[in-house]
Amino acid sequence: MALKITEECINCAACEPECPTNSISEGSEIFVIDANTCVECVGHFDEPQCKVVCPVDCIVPA
Ligand code: SF4
Ligand code: SF4
Repeated sequence: MALKITEECINCAACEPECPTNSISEGSEIFVIDANTCVECVGHFDEPQCKVVCPVDCIVPA
């Protein structure tokens, strides 16, 4: 159960501080989600916060 960031990412960094499990970091080309710690925000928020703030809607099910 995790989300991933696609190559559509524009490296805006908006998602990084929103993650309750600190699963988002800047990768070599685009931002990346650690699938081992992403819980899709279950237990923290009603919906995935990274998806909510992403301006280009490039965060999808892994
Ligand atoms: S869905 Fe939630 S836990 Fe997973 S990366 Fe996005 S903000 Fe973090
Ligand atoms: S909010 Fe979207 S576009 Fe911005 S860094 Fe995160 S995944 Fe990339």
